[in-house]
Amino acid sequence: MLADRRSDTSAAMTIVSYTCPIKGAEVYVWFDQDISPYGDRVYEPVQCPLCGEIHFVDRDGNVFGYDEDVG
Ligand SMILES: [Zn+2]
Repeated sequence: MLADRRSDTSAAMTIVSYTCPIKGAEVYVWFDQDISPYGDRVYEPVQCPLCGEIHFVDRDGNVFGYDEDVG
């Protein structure tokens, strides 16, 4: 069954949670575009609502340059 989802205006946004590396608190941001889940990791610039800085965050919530959880 094929459903026409183009009329669903809320389907295009992606919610990503990340930990602000400056404030150390979890933040939720909305990407208004679909970030490719495959291939190379893509970081999107977001203005952090907590600290006001720009962080580069991928769709998995990893913050570029702050990979303290590696391993
Ligand atoms: Zn921040």
